[in-house]
Amino acid sequence: MKQVFLLGDPLGHSLSPAMQNAAFRAAGLDWEYVLYETPREELRAAVARLRAEDCAGANVTIPHKEAVVEWLDDLSDGARRIGAVNTIVKRGDKLIGENTDLYGFLQSLRDADVDPRGARGVILGAGGAAHAVAFALAEAEASSLVILNRTESRARSLAVVLGKHHPQLEITVNRNGALGRANLIVNTTPIGMPPREDQSPMPGTFPRGAVVFDLVYLPAQTRFLRDAERAGARTIGGIGMLVHQGAAAFELWTGRDAPTQVMVEATEAALRETEHATRYP
Ligand code: NAP
Repeated sequence: MKQVFLLGDPLGHSLSPAMQNAAFRAAGLDWEYVLYETPREELRAAVARLRAEDCAGANVTIPHKEAVVEWLDDLSDGARRIGAVNTIVKRGDKLIGENTDLYGFLQSLRDADVDPRGARGVILGAGGAAHAVAFALAEAEASSLVILNRTESRARSLAVVLGKHHPQLEITVNRNGALGRANLIVNTTPIGMPPREDQSPMPGTFPRGAVVFDLVYLPAQTRFLRDAERAGARTIGGIGMLVHQGAAAFELWTGRDAPTQVMVEATEAALRETEHATRYP
């Protein structure tokens, strides 16, 4: 019996246990995906726990994707470039940080037939997920990127690392006026999920005809996406990205192909259940 942990705080509405446990069962693995609520001051001890024999790896979520880098033995090239880790893999006695969010985001755009090449992007947020989205858009040859974040210094440091790797990309920080020119807007903040399900992170009006992507997957239809749809935008919710990043993590931990369809069905069933439970507590 092996365990895979999800390190984050808070973890209340995670769909990952349903998704990954269904995948382990389908693959005939006696493995268990377990929530490991980790306050900031316990992150180091939680990473040390992953070194035990019975642990096969981990996912990392809000708010630790950047901070966890310090406690790992090595990073994949992608995770090093991005500066954020959402998956930890064990190679011998080493803990290696990986990032499958970048792949999950691009794959979800592909599913929706959206090509980000030449896009004028806006990213709301500048945390771990924003790093993956920003590098994904840069690597897919978006033409410009505006990063809007509550804490401006964090948006600036993302702009600096991104600019070093992608000097051709036009990057602007905290300029709301740039929204009107955008044709791809991505929310990477947790605004819109409980307890902020009645809020939207959008600081202005949606430009007509833009593609609007919300990384939040619970509820499936956030206020951000509803407002965008009303303004005539095309919308993409976070569930597809969740499954794609989870499938890539499964393959890194197990060395096997992910049972993607099983993961989609388990995640959608868990989403329906959780939505019902949050609406009628
Ligand atoms: P994180 O590293 O903690 O970053 C959170 C970001 O949101 C920061 O930029 C933070 O701004 C901003 N933020 C948080 N609360 C805010 C508030 N009340 N008002 C304004 N800004 C606020 O977290 P993360 O790991 O990037 O995750 C962010 C969200 O993306 C989570 O909801 C997570 O579930 C979701 N996500 C989804 C997927 C998927 O597959 N669908 C994948 C990854 C992440 P400050 O810098 O000012 O603190």
